[in-house]
Amino acid sequence: MTIPSADELLFLPLGGAGEIGMNLNLYGHAGKWLMVDLGIAFGDDTTPGIEVVMPDPAFIEERRQDLAGIVLTHAHEDHLGAVADLWPRLRAPVFATPFAASVLRRKLTEAGLVDEVPVTEVALGAKFTVAPFELEMITMTHSIPEPNALAIRTRLGTVFHTGDWKIDPEPLLGEITDEATLKRIGEEGALAMVCDSTNVFVEGEAGSEATVRANLEKLVRARKCRVAVTCFASNLARVESIARAAVAAGRHPVLSGRALQRMVEAAQECGYLLDFPQCVSEREAGYLPRDKVLYICTGSQGEPRASMAKIAGGEHRDIVLEAGDTAIFSSRIIPGNERSVGRMQNELLARGIEVVTDRGADIHVSGHPARDELVRVYQWIRPRIAVPVHGEVRHMVEHAALARTCQVPETVFAPNGTLVRLAPGPATVVDHVHAGRLARDGDLVAPIEGEALRERRKLLWNGAASATLVIDSEGRAKALPKVSLRGIADMEGELNEAIVASLEEMLADLSAGERRDDQRIEEAARQAVRRVVRAHLGKKPLTDVHIIRI
Ligand SMILES: [Zn+2]
Ligand SMILES: [Zn+2]
Repeated sequence: MTIPSADELLFLPLGGAGEIGMNLNLYGHAGKWLMVDLGIAFGDDTTPGIEVVMPDPAFIEERRQDLAGIVLTHAHEDHLGAVADLWPRLRAPVFATPFAASVLRRKLTEAGLVDEVPVTEVALGAKFTVAPFELEMITMTHSIPEPNALAIRTRLGTVFHTGDWKIDPEPLLGEITDEATLKRIGEEGALAMVCDSTNVFVEGEAGSEATVRANLEKLVRARKCRVAVTCFASNLARVESIARAAVAAGRHPVLSGRALQRMVEAAQECGYLLDFPQCVSEREAGYLPRDKVLYICTGSQGEPRASMAKIAGGEHRDIVLEAGDTAIFSSRIIPGNERSVGRMQNELLARGIEVVTDRGADIHVSGHPARDELVRVYQWIRPRIAVPVHGEVRHMVEHAALARTCQVPETVFAPNGTLVRLAPGPATVVDHVHAGRLARDGDLVAPIEGEALRERRKLLWNGAASATLVIDSEGRAKALPKVSLRGIADMEGELNEAIVASLEEMLADLSAGERRDDQRIEEAARQAVRRVVRAHLGKKPLTDVHIIRI
């Protein structure tokens, strides 16, 4: 099943199915594979020291001569964030609409790859060929400029791959959902719909950016002191709404945070936001009266180096918020970030700064479809097969149930690594392939289950101990064993003393022959150290032993 035949159409997710983040989807037909999206996810408390994780592309890397191309649906990190790290393993041509291409080029430039990666810009609504696949970009609405769905046409039928979407009647930036094309695909007859599951538990509709714009304006007008608003930097309709709210309230907007400046530049390069309100710099804003300034900040998820976290901690070079000022969170908390966002809001509130979130005001809408929108698109596309993706298992299962209520005859549950034959015949799981995760660790990309990261998790829980034994050629101690403990509590050095004593005892107990054997001593010393720490603290530290013979 390694080479898809001309008589079949295969689907294989390697990321983003069974989790939200790091999307990587493959379609196989007539000897070739097509990749749709190549994104990252962010690390959490199970991955200490790791900020970025990504799908392991080993399956397709092994057959990269058969990878016809990589199509990116939009510029969110969970869809294109891994291109710079993983493209060197894949080396296939990349296709994207102008905004995603512009964001990608900035990343490739930083990675020194911009001259190497062939990025083909395709227009919104374009039809193009990545043989043997006939592709069509279809304009949707979401929370970033240029979200595209993809029609993937083959001899065996058409797959409608939604990408991330909702139906926003007033997206404020870019076009509305291309309803006519969606209905046309339905009329042509769609084999399968591979669809976003993120908000399948949300009743009704996602809501419009236009509502948020009106509410933000009211909120800002009612404030008398400084206002700082944070949102996702890539939600440029929102960024513009905040800037316009500032101007409407007689304030100067300030863009605070490099990600925001980069996103606005990328958008303007593509012809968006050309009449974005004039901004002042962070430094200049410091001279303005408190009611004449509005900061638009990065860091809505509590990212420690982003602008809002620095402001909350009172550590921003140019921006100060004080009692009476207001911090507005025009965003939702991504699951996993509750603690860091909570910490930041506590810091602000403790200093008398008002905190406004989407719980207290309608200042955020999601970019993903709620149930009514899902139903509407199932009615337009009328696929034979529903394949839920972009969700945890619970979202995918619920989404399949919803699709069945929409009279979709077949649903497929395909978490990462599930190879599905979509055609011919009924959709069938034909194989399971390796679908692991890689972690970006410093400048390296390595398997997350690798030795280094396993050790780091152990270190985090158990700390580390090291012991140095100075002995002569007969294995007699020439000095007191030296012990150092890292991340291990040791009141008054008692534990250290106990370890030293046990090491001395250990040496004395070894036979003359054993004492000439470095490996034997090392092993005995390691056991001695671990035994003492376990007895004192119930912990098993990572333990190193060094032997010096003099
Ligand atoms: Zn996404
Ligand atoms: Zn997205």
